[in-house]
Amino acid sequence: KAKKQGRDTYEIYSRDLDKKLARRVNLRNELQEAMTSGQLNLHYQPLVDRSGSFCGLEALVRWNHPRKGLIAPAEFIPVAEETGQIVHLGKWVTRQACRDAQKLVARGMLAGRMAVNLSPLQFHRPGFLSTLRSILEETGLPARYLELELTESILMKDSDGAIGILNALNDMGIAAAIDDFGTGFSSFSYLRHLPVDKIKIDRSFVSNVVTNDKDAAVCKGVITLAREMDLTVVAEGIENADQFEYLRDYGCEVFQGYHFARPMPIGQLLEWVEKTAGDRSGK
Ligand code: C2E
Ligand code: MG
Ligand code: MG
Ligand code: MG
Repeated sequence: KAKKQGRDTYEIYSRDLDKKLARRVNLRNELQEAMTSGQLNLHYQPLVDRSGSFCGLEALVRWNHPRKGLIAPAEFIPVAEETGQIVHLGKWVTRQACRDAQKLVARGMLAGRMAVNLSPLQFHRPGFLSTLRSILEETGLPARYLELELTESILMKDSDGAIGILNALNDMGIAAAIDDFGTGFSSFSYLRHLPVDKIKIDRSFVSNVVTNDKDAAVCKGVITLAREMDLTVVAEGIENADQFEYLRDYGCEVFQGYHFARPMPIGQLLEWVEKTAGDRSGK
């Protein structure tokens, strides 16, 4: 009986794998079409400061598949990275985010910067900087409104090359943030040599900050050291008031999470900005 059970489990498992693989191959083929037929779009999530006021945005890509519905970036970004499609996709994201940011700037509605997530392949590609320059020129967005989010792995890979690119970004006026901080292998001693402006503490530490002493210690330590190094610290994935208060007590300066606002399409974002600005002026 045990044997039979084992075989059944195996069959279910392997059928499962087949399905996953088939879905991936499909996604790769469909992604090409998605990029040209308007199935991709961006959602924007606001960031807030210690008083809860709007102080920045992050652009997050969404794929609205005609049959499969909404597909999360966690599923298709890895596929796009594997196939190299991320280069084209990344350009589209950057251009669209800059375009929308410029619309906000023109209406006096952008606080802080628009942050765009980058994949390693984009960052280390020759021509990356000139692509950025032409996107800024094309969209009319001044560089001081743009920020790029990089992962620790981007910066560990060819760190001399990375430093060169970061310096060039800095000269252009574009800010750089390290995303998902704490999940990679980077140390603070190496951070010391990197010309970045900001670090974002990963949600995995933030979610247990109230209940887990070790996660709390990580958050506290990262915030304290980052501030000593004149880096802005962002806590991502704030889902309740307790997490906000704890991290604010530790000295965190910027916050992002469902507690404040979810990622939303540009139309909804415009309403959100107007509403929160109205709230602040006491109307
Ligand atoms: P990320 O850059 O760390 O983005 C934050 C993720 O956390 C987003 O997921 C956001 O929707 C989610 N989030 C924000 N606040 C909360 C919260 O309070 N609770 C929870 N549970 N989640 C929260 P999303 O949009 O699914 O994106 C996942 C990841 O996909 C991003 O993580 C980023 O690494 C990647 N990604 C998204 N857009 C792009 C893109 O345009 N290019 C590249 N290369 N990667 C992207
Ligand atoms: Mg990010
Ligand atoms: Mg992040
Ligand atoms: Mg994260």
